[in-house]
Amino acid sequence: MLTIHGRNLVGGQFRPALSEKRIDLVSPSSGRLIGSIPASEKRDIDAAVSAARAAVEGGTWSRQTAVERGRLLTALGALVSKHADKLAQIESLDTGKPLRQARQDIELTARYFEFYGGGADKFGGETLPYLNDFNIQLWREPLGVTGHIIPWNYPSQILARTLAPSLAMGNATVLKPAEDACLTPIHLSELAVEAGFPDGSINVVTGSGDVAGASLASHVGIDFLSFTGSPETGASVAAAAASNRIACALELGGKSPQIVFEDADLESAYPVLVQAIIQNAGQTCSAGSRILVQSSVYDLVVEELGRRFAELEAGPHDLDLDLGPLISHKQKTRVLGYLELADQSTMVAQGNIVSDAPPDGFYVRPTLLGPIDGDSRLAQEEIFGPVLICTPFSDESEAVRLANGTDYGLVAGVWTSDGSRQLRMAKALNCGQVFINCFGAGGGVELPFGGVGKSGHGREKGMIALHTYSRLKTVVQFHGH
Ligand code: NAD
Repeated sequence: MLTIHGRNLVGGQFRPALSEKRIDLVSPSSGRLIGSIPASEKRDIDAAVSAARAAVEGGTWSRQTAVERGRLLTALGALVSKHADKLAQIESLDTGKPLRQARQDIELTARYFEFYGGGADKFGGETLPYLNDFNIQLWREPLGVTGHIIPWNYPSQILARTLAPSLAMGNATVLKPAEDACLTPIHLSELAVEAGFPDGSINVVTGSGDVAGASLASHVGIDFLSFTGSPETGASVAAAAASNRIACALELGGKSPQIVFEDADLESAYPVLVQAIIQNAGQTCSAGSRILVQSSVYDLVVEELGRRFAELEAGPHDLDLDLGPLISHKQKTRVLGYLELADQSTMVAQGNIVSDAPPDGFYVRPTLLGPIDGDSRLAQEEIFGPVLICTPFSDESEAVRLANGTDYGLVAGVWTSDGSRQLRMAKALNCGQVFINCFGAGGGVELPFGGVGKSGHGREKGMIALHTYSRLKTVVQFHGH
């Protein structure tokens, strides 16, 4: 079994936490120890923020042109592709996700670096019409030092999604990965040094959320905070950022509906409806975790989904089945707690855990429930596991009411062959992304992404992220008659 003892990257140096303390890592597939990471504290975060500050204020990084920054990002993307096999093995071991999914994640990680590598020298300011005799320029400047706190569900993809646009704009970065899964971030930090990123431009510091994470979120030396994780922690890091008067982007999950009308191409919808919840064992912020089905086809759709759920298999990451284990014992307990809320009469179908899955792994059977009342906790709260709930609706207005009827608003899917209805629904849905006759949980490097309400605010992905990671300065020049 692979055992990895990771180090922090601070100011171009790989080192343990200053206290030398460590946190053990376990494999979600077996519950067994697979390595350890530095248990960093406030002084490690202080050192990383200082190194980043030095990088943007006079360091080599501050002198790089947009073209040079783009080339570094592109070089890192190429290194990720070159080491894709090894990175995918590590991501799969560390998170428990099936190997083929980890391979897709690493491909997307490379794609983020490539995309923003290409974007770095193509994004600039503007001029504005104003009074005669004046020249108005809008400049796009880096923010300075950006802090990034990321979760365990897609460690490599989310690292790339948040660091790459920030680096493209010339910021220096400090990243705190999640303590439950951070081996790929550690490996990516090594590849960043190999690609030639100057000292201090990328700092990666591991540790617990309440110590290392809280120290970064409340640090007076950062100029912007990007956070992806739970709404509760999101609220606390946003409060810390506000007390330092800095902006933040929050991506806090969802309860994303897929709405199936009676005129939908159901055969095309079924595999997508299932995949959107079992991907990453349901631990995806944009998982399609609720299905709203028009009453006239409700029984038909639920019966077919039930048949497909009963065939699903969960097992160790290296068996590459439909889904792997959950990330931790804590998450497994949480998801099983939700299943206990379900009335037995609403249990439509459950998939299986393969017999050779290690008993100490964190497996949960994929489960289809319905009909579930739209106001119940199962329909309102993010379960973050392989649990799909079905709720019937009678007409378009009820579909909209149910779809918008949670505190979240990240993504929605609409399945209908009526073109006018597709657009009416897209307008009426209160969320950041709408998919029509398709659904994309994760992925979509080019597609701006972010939520409303409890799903957070701010946009990442796509060229819009270059706005997020830069500051606008208005320059007013009087040039005379
Ligand atoms: P979390 O929000 O506590 O953790 C996310 C990140 O924040 C991790 O890096 C963690 O170390 C850090 N963190 C934790 N406490 C912190 C603090 N006080 N200050 C600063 N950083 C802190 O999430 P979790 O406890 O791992 O999972 C709980 C629930 O969150 C899940 O069940 C799920 O519903 C949700 N979640 C959502 C996403 C998403 O992509 N939106 C990802 C992970 C978890």
